[in-house]
Amino acid sequence: MSKIVEISDDRRTFVQGDVTIEVLRGINLSVGDGELVALLGPSGSGKSTLLQAIGLLEGGFAGSIKLDGEEVSSSSVDRQTEIRREKLGFVYQFHHLLPEFTALENVCMPLLIGKTAIPEARQRATALLERVGLGHRLEHKPAELSGGERQRVHLARVLAQLWPGQSGQVLLLDEPTSMLDPLHQHITLQAVRRVAASGCAVLVVLHDLNLAARYCDRLLLLANGRAQALASPQEVLQPALLESVFGLQVLVHSHP
Ligand code: ADP
Ligand code: MG
Repeated sequence: MSKIVEISDDRRTFVQGDVTIEVLRGINLSVGDGELVALLGPSGSGKSTLLQAIGLLEGGFAGSIKLDGEEVSSSSVDRQTEIRREKLGFVYQFHHLLPEFTALENVCMPLLIGKTAIPEARQRATALLERVGLGHRLEHKPAELSGGERQRVHLARVLAQLWPGQSGQVLLLDEPTSMLDPLHQHITLQAVRRVAASGCAVLVVLHDLNLAARYCDRLLLLANGRAQALASPQEVLQPALLESVFGLQVLVHSHP
């Protein structure tokens, strides 16, 4: 497995007035091709900030970030834009679909930008929407969809951007299941697992520990901007550790 995402000693600060707040410190993480890693932790623990740093969306972090072997944290703005377009898919927590276009057209967009012919783009976009359980919503515009449906159109659009998927790519998802019913949470994680199988390195912010345990290879548990654990679900999902991070008593059972 080759390392696609490598972060060492990532620190990130925000300046508010006279105060400098350190929101991430000493984060070390590498994600290999085909690997699916969940970011877990209470609200405000730094999950989105870390994802945005890897997605080259926010500067201001120290340390080193390598994507597919290339040191990117100090790359030019142009190079970062190129990397974002070619290698990075980002499913934002707050998504932006084009309101005047249908679900199908929204998903076709990155394929058409990538010079795929229209009939083929429509065919692929349809297949991707079916994969996220939206085969019956192709002609709906975003305003005619539920929040959870919009979330999945956005996922399909990012999958279209990365299509067909290959080693060296990175998929980042910030709470992609937050608005979904249980069935569609599983459909979404299964679609994400499939992207990882194509060789993409995947990082996903989740709040549901059960989903994380079932679908992810490793879990990074954050609290106050520090890594509390980075290991297999079995090693991380320990009652004492979870209680210390979430302040909640949990029972851990193995899935039969
Ligand atoms: P999470 O995604 O784990 O809920 P975030 O990464 O969004 O947490 O935020 C981590 C911390 O950084 C929070 O305390 C948040 O208030 C702070 N923060 C995030 N973005 C900014 C910003 N642009 N300016 C100042 N503080 C910020
Ligand atoms: Mg967040």
